[in-house]
Amino acid sequence: MATELPSDIDCRRLLRNGGLLTGAISGERFERIGGIFRPCGAAQVHVQLSRDEQGQMALNGSFVAPLQAQCQRCLEWMELEVSGDIELDVVPAAHSAEDEQENLLRTVDGRLQIVEFVEDEVLLACPMIPLHAAKNCRGEEVKAASPPTPPTRQPFAGLGDLLGESNDDFE
Ligand SMILES: [Zn+2]
Repeated sequence: MATELPSDIDCRRLLRNGGLLTGAISGERFERIGGIFRPCGAAQVHVQLSRDEQGQMALNGSFVAPLQAQCQRCLEWMELEVSGDIELDVVPAAHSAEDEQENLLRTVDGRLQIVEFVEDEVLLACPMIPLHAAKNCRGEEVKAASPPTPPTRQPFAGLGDLLGESNDDFE
């Protein structure tokens, strides 16, 4: 079992200890994942905090989060593992420049908000419209159970109707 991560951690202390942050976050600690997604286990996080010569901090690594998602075709719930890379520039909360820059992670009182940024990453990695693979989706099975009538069965059935209509027009 991976160690449960704290909700936040002091950046300087983490850097002093080598910067490696690895562990788990139980699903129930994610409060914003909801709607058509729900956590169904612990997310695994593996990130490295580093600081360059200018003092700029960066966080790099990856995460995996087991979720359940509601298929938007058949509305059944399914297992959906979400994963991704983490590449964030870490700046103090008071950092003013480049407010609109993406991949910016703000610290609060010098602390990394671990659960918050992981939850952000998980939410960003969720598909817009979760769907079963077509062969596993009951929404598709319903369609497959009533195939269209083979067109070769009564090749002239429609033709008769057409001719009948044409005759009516001439009468
Ligand atoms: Zn489905």
